[in-house]
Amino acid sequence: MRAIAENIQSMAGYTPGEQPKGAGIVKLNTNENPYPPSPKVAEAMAQIDHSFLRRYPDPVATALRSRIAELHGVTPAHVFVGNGSDEVLSLAVRCFVRRNGAVGAFTPTYSLYPVLSQIRDVAYAKCPLGDDFSWRTPQFGTSAPDLFFLTNPNAPTGIAYPFEAVRDFARSFDGTVLIDEAYADFADSNCMALAADPSNANVVVSRTLSKSYSLAGLRMGYCVGPEPLIEAMFKAKDSYNLDFIAQALALAALNDQDWMRANAEKIRAERVRLTEALSSRGWRCTPSQTNFVFARPPAGNAPEIFAALKEKRIFVRHFNLPGISEWLRITVGTPAENDAFLAALP
Ligand code: PMP
Repeated sequence: MRAIAENIQSMAGYTPGEQPKGAGIVKLNTNENPYPPSPKVAEAMAQIDHSFLRRYPDPVATALRSRIAELHGVTPAHVFVGNGSDEVLSLAVRCFVRRNGAVGAFTPTYSLYPVLSQIRDVAYAKCPLGDDFSWRTPQFGTSAPDLFFLTNPNAPTGIAYPFEAVRDFARSFDGTVLIDEAYADFADSNCMALAADPSNANVVVSRTLSKSYSLAGLRMGYCVGPEPLIEAMFKAKDSYNLDFIAQALALAALNDQDWMRANAEKIRAERVRLTEALSSRGWRCTPSQTNFVFARPPAGNAPEIFAALKEKRIFVRHFNLPGISEWLRITVGTPAENDAFLAALP
């Protein structure tokens, strides 16, 4: 019986971070925002007329895309919206990679990319980063991938790459460069200008409302890029990929930039405090530009510390992967949550 395609049969699938339930949990493991979304989201939610739900939503999310276009100084034809930025990434693999092509990315980086390549049954080229996870221009020899996922700032390392390095790499690269800016609102700078610049025909920048806008549960992400690439994504998407409620609430959240900025500032301040507290205990911390801290305990015994914290109902993230198995990724929480984490360290 040929029930399941070989590539799906043989792949393990993406492992999401744990979503523990119950009281008294300190959850610093999936880079969620510790503060609630804007009150404008609550107002928009209260105004939703449930009878509208019998109708299909706007298939091209007109109002939402107009607002995003306005925010980034482009026209709506340059904007695609998805069910979380994960859907945007998945569609990029569907649209920008040829049948026998390949996806490229740095290592370590977001662990979803190889999974998306396995689903499409295409090769995955891992490009090493430099010492301390710093930028190193990818080298491909004769077979360059069709699509390169460039997470900036990177995850789980938290490190942001220099704008000029990203720009020069994108200009020299023959395929599409998707700059995944899931954490850009916590960084000093970003690469959105590259996606908005008409002279770059191959750069797409993705963003999410899951982190800085505190809406991980809503599932809304988007990307900005050249019109032909955006058009391709529209052809390949599900007919109604973004539901009516997500469109309405995402619009409300985007209309309250002050709320998002204020929370991002609080998180950046706590990021500094958490980094300093860990460094003073001998941990090695990367210079994070995200809403998490990536840190190596002095003894490199990350799995042990992970387990000890979990005993105390404090959840952080450990990746049992080459090169980073001695590190922990700690999402920046509220000051009280960060204190609880620091107090619980062995
Ligand atoms: N990109 C990166 C680098 C991430 O860490 C995440 C969160 N897991 C995402 C994209 C996906 O975010 P979402 O689908 O919630 O928009």
